[in-house]
Amino acid sequence: MIQDQIAEMERRALAELQATSDLVALDEWRIKYLGKKGELTGFLRGMGGLSPVERPLVGQAVNTAKNILETAVAERTERLKSAALEVTLTRDKVDVTLPGRPVQVGHVHVITKVFREIIEAFTAMGFQVAEGPEVELDYYNFQQLNIPPGHPARSMHDTFYFSESVLLRTHTSPNQIRVMEKQKPPVRIIVPGKCYRSEATDATHEFMFMQFEGLAVDRDITLADLRGTLAAFARRMFGEERKVRFRCDYFPYVEPGVDLSIDCLICQGVGCRACKYSGWLEILGAGMVHPQVLRNVDIDPQKYSGFAFGMGPERIAMLKYSIDDIRQFYRNDLRFLRQFA
Ligand SMILES: [Zn+2]
Repeated sequence: MIQDQIAEMERRALAELQATSDLVALDEWRIKYLGKKGELTGFLRGMGGLSPVERPLVGQAVNTAKNILETAVAERTERLKSAALEVTLTRDKVDVTLPGRPVQVGHVHVITKVFREIIEAFTAMGFQVAEGPEVELDYYNFQQLNIPPGHPARSMHDTFYFSESVLLRTHTSPNQIRVMEKQKPPVRIIVPGKCYRSEATDATHEFMFMQFEGLAVDRDITLADLRGTLAAFARRMFGEERKVRFRCDYFPYVEPGVDLSIDCLICQGVGCRACKYSGWLEILGAGMVHPQVLRNVDIDPQKYSGFAFGMGPERIAMLKYSIDDIRQFYRNDLRFLRQFA
């Protein structure tokens, strides 16, 4: 009888179901017995050849078997799923008592740090920050700063040229001109930025370096203002007890020109290798803006005067932290950089 065959298939199916061990095997089982071409459907397909009396009986038997198998497979699926979850939970168990992995926290680069300190020192005295292009015109980098073609000062600037008139700026001073072209006195700015010189690198020279340009133009600005401003800066950066010294120096765009030194941080002025036994460390160059530079931007040197200064934050950082090689700053050696966290 067909009912017997159905009952036999049901037993076989249930036995196989109990033997399934994972969800893949379950799927195979489902296709074999309950699928469109599965064994159960096979019985329905054969019903055409049955007598009208047998037909409903067989149909009922198929339905009953179908219900039993579907219920069984649903239960089995649940059980296998929770077993799989159990395995995952045990395998991936997290020991919450373990100490955490340390998270590496970054910090600003030592040059950025000194950079910000310098900006703070001058903005506190009323200077504003201005910026300018790194790719500069010869006109701004040299000519307007009183360094015409053929001027000997050009040989001190080993310049990267793009063409006869376009170059990588060798200092931040061209921004004096750029600012004064647009802004009439009073002017109080500092210009931080990268500069480039085509130099062989050594312990004190890099082909790329940072520079700070400062400029103050107004009525009655004198060398005493320059001296007071820069001495205040030097003491803020290197300590209130620092002595400062100004000496004559030469830059084509200032008259007179000076350089500023502080008494040696290492030997306190007695004399050591760092200060070349002079007791003094030079930190920047400065001077009173040359009258010709003022005239170049239509500012009357009879009415106005100003001072300008330029310094390298690398040099300031080297002195402040006793670093003996400028190339350390841009080598990206973490052992070096982490000291300034
Ligand atoms: Zn010294």
